[in-house]
Amino acid sequence: MGGSAEKMTDAPAKEVDLASEAFEREFERFARFIRNDSSAVTLGLSDAEQELRALQDLRTRHLGKKSAIAGAKKLIGRVAAEDRAAFGQLVQKTEAAMAESIETAEESLNAIIKSARTAREAIDVTIPGRRPRQGHLHPITLMRQRIEDIFVSLGYAVEDDREIETDFYNFDALNIPEGHPAREPQDTFYTTEGFALRSQTSTVQIHAMQRRGAPVRMIAPGRVFRRDTPDPTHNPMFYQVEGLCVDRGITMAHLKGTLAEFVHRLFGPETKTRFRPSYFPFTEPSAEVDYSCFNCGGDGCRICKWSGWIELGGSGMVHPNVLRAANVDPEEFTGFAFGLGIDRTCARIYQLDDIRLLFENDVRFLSQFR
Ligand SMILES: [Zn+2]
Repeated sequence: MGGSAEKMTDAPAKEVDLASEAFEREFERFARFIRNDSSAVTLGLSDAEQELRALQDLRTRHLGKKSAIAGAKKLIGRVAAEDRAAFGQLVQKTEAAMAESIETAEESLNAIIKSARTAREAIDVTIPGRRPRQGHLHPITLMRQRIEDIFVSLGYAVEDDREIETDFYNFDALNIPEGHPAREPQDTFYTTEGFALRSQTSTVQIHAMQRRGAPVRMIAPGRVFRRDTPDPTHNPMFYQVEGLCVDRGITMAHLKGTLAEFVHRLFGPETKTRFRPSYFPFTEPSAEVDYSCFNCGGDGCRICKWSGWIELGGSGMVHPNVLRAANVDPEEFTGFAFGLGIDRTCARIYQLDDIRLLFENDVRFLSQFR
């Protein structure tokens, strides 16, 4: 290009040459798209799109209505008649060469953009899938459900209630009068308004008896609170199940038969029970309940600390004062109650050395219990 201008000495031809040179300078960066250099082919999608926009701007500048070549076209009529045809051809040839360069680069860029988009949207069906991690219930929840199922099949209702209680439900109604050692502030937690975090789910039994009267047969699983320093066998918050059966003519024999049936269903029919005299303010008489070790059957092993027995929890005949507090006549009705720790039972069955593992929510630990 521009060589033919030598034949013409006039200014218009010089202008076409200048326009052509300016175009060549600016087009230099796009030349790689015509040559299909590796630097062009490996261009990223957004870089290629940016280059395409820059190329379109360049077209507007050099071939648009206000471009130098458009200005040169207007001069065609003004050049001397004998030079007109040659000048016209020069302008046309220059313009066509510019347009062809731009179009070739544009096609190449569009091809690069298309293949980059295809690569981005492609799905490699041969890559192995990622299995979604499936959650499962917490071991304490699993144990609670097993216990609930057993008592529901024995005709017990499952009751739930509030965790923050008044002194009446947490203490008075449970025959724990003012001044009783169990009322010591270090025994449970209090809110600033003087409410107590329930220290046992017996509170639910009082609510249930007040609401439904006697006879009643229910269990109350739930969270309870004690001001204990956490250690391998204690936690200030733990789970408990308390049971209550109130009816006419209920005796200690019913209590023993019910808990014997419970451990048979939970640990197997060969499991034995043992009752040891004890004291609780809300029952009279009271007994600690043990069951023969599910692991060694009573011969002695690490789990039962070589005694052959494992402690289940506390039990006893409901104190008449507790029945009275719930508006149940102790002359007409008697009942038994029992309570056991869900977490402790869980820790025994799974042979955990530290009960706190159940509350640390470490997925590596929890995933073992499905
Ligand atoms: Zn044992």
